[in-house]
Amino acid sequence: MKVAVLGAKGRMGSQTVAAINSASDLTLSAALDIGDSLDQLVSTGSEVVVDFTTPDSVMKNLEFAINNGIHVVVGTTGFDDNKLNLLKTILSKNPKVGALIAPNFGLGAVLMMQFSQTAAKYFESAEIVEMHHANKVDAPSGTAIRTAEMITSARKQSKKGAMPDKTNSGLPGARGAKVGDVLVHSIRSHGFVAHQEVIFGDAGESLTIRHDSIDRAGFMPGVLIGIRNVAKKPGLTVGLENYMEGM
Ligand code: NAP
Repeated sequence: MKVAVLGAKGRMGSQTVAAINSASDLTLSAALDIGDSLDQLVSTGSEVVVDFTTPDSVMKNLEFAINNGIHVVVGTTGFDDNKLNLLKTILSKNPKVGALIAPNFGLGAVLMMQFSQTAAKYFESAEIVEMHHANKVDAPSGTAIRTAEMITSARKQSKKGAMPDKTNSGLPGARGAKVGDVLVHSIRSHGFVAHQEVIFGDAGESLTIRHDSIDRAGFMPGVLIGIRNVAKKPGLTVGLENYMEGM
């Protein structure tokens, strides 16, 4: 399979180039970065393109690839409902093309989210603490937001009431940022890469689910799963977990 990388000089893109070069079933057809012409995706016969660029660039890249019948595997963050709807419109005109938007390619992180969604049905309380390096510009992390949304939807399905919390005074921010039902606490400090704890509580017991990402290499098995499966699922897929069943 011929695979191109956009954002190939970046931190994630360069790891992806190396991972494709190490995979015997994949051929790197193009490694493009800012300023390179997207026409090379077509002239090299690329079948799949992996995008690790920036939230500002990604939609233009995806529109070009999809309109040219190339499947897309996307790690670039910042996909809100508007962007997802726009992507669906582009895909509807090219129904054979597959697009994977993966907020997190870490298999452990995906499992952490799934385990959290399962646990959410059984506990009254759920809060998230996420810890990242001091250079991260957004808070909470995309993974924490997605985890909180998954927990909220599980709580809705099992008709959970409000979480117990008698706090009636405190400094602003002391109880974190609310995403759906869930309070998220973001720590930014040197000494961390990307970590998250999901803490569940009920009378007499608590359960903590923790994931640690310590190197970008940890995302590559997930990126390769995306590349190998994206053509099998035409249309839009959000979340790598949709490709992990039957593994
Ligand atoms: P990075 O090191 O800044 O890499 C981005 C690269 O893309 C840079 O080389 C940049 O060039 C280039 N670029 C920008 N616009 C482009 C365009 N239109 N066409 C081609 N290349 C372009 O960032 P990163 O750490 O690799 O992260 C990239 C994205 O992946 C971010 O959105 C990040 O949040 C996300 N991410 C996702 C996951 C996941 O598991 N889904 C994991 C980690 C990171 P310049 O530097 O010259 O602008």
